[in-house]
Amino acid sequence: MTVVILLGPPGAGKGTQASRIAERLGIPAISTGDIFRANMAEGTEIGKQAQAYMDRGEFVPDSVTNAMVKARLAAPDAAGGFLLDGYPRSVEQAHVLRDMLLDLGKPIDVVLEIQVDEDEVVARMLKRAQEQHRTDDTEPVMRHRLEVYHQQTLPVATYYVDQDLLEVVDGSGSIDEVTARIFAILDSVAKN
Ligand code: ADP
Repeated sequence: MTVVILLGPPGAGKGTQASRIAERLGIPAISTGDIFRANMAEGTEIGKQAQAYMDRGEFVPDSVTNAMVKARLAAPDAAGGFLLDGYPRSVEQAHVLRDMLLDLGKPIDVVLEIQVDEDEVVARMLKRAQEQHRTDDTEPVMRHRLEVYHQQTLPVATYYVDQDLLEVVDGSGSIDEVTARIFAILDSVAKN
């Protein structure tokens, strides 16, 4: 399995699961949020463009995001496949990704949607705020990110259901429990 997409609300634990899945499949985990944060830390042009949007919990404009993803997917370490975490986040981005993958000749193998209830997600983000001091982890910004997730990203799940690519993962319980559920899904998808 070489092209895997991870969907789920902010605070669902995507980052943690992404690195475990990537390790198991031997592919890089590509997180748009992480790439933006690294660019902000380094003070690059992309970082400067992204900062204000991220701090408000808004999407960074597609012109910036899509170009950044396209460049990242062309890097040598992505030649054998990749896991995408945080992209696509809208149906428009899903369409752009479809074209990028057509160009690369790589179909999507599976889309995993981690589902966690809203109270749990807010509790996890508040905990993360204390540990990591992310500037977008304040409660009003978190709530806004969740709203944007419902409006923009849930339709992406439907888009992939229609293509018979979506697998829903119960994101409740411990990190290891969620990983075990994901690995079971990956095994069953690989067999089919
Ligand atoms: P979370 O999963 O907690 O929302 P991320 O690290 O995935 O955190 O994303 C943090 C922020 O980075 C988003 O709120 C948004 O501003 C920006 N971002 C990440 N991915 C995208 C994307 N695909 N399109 C637009 N903005 C994005």
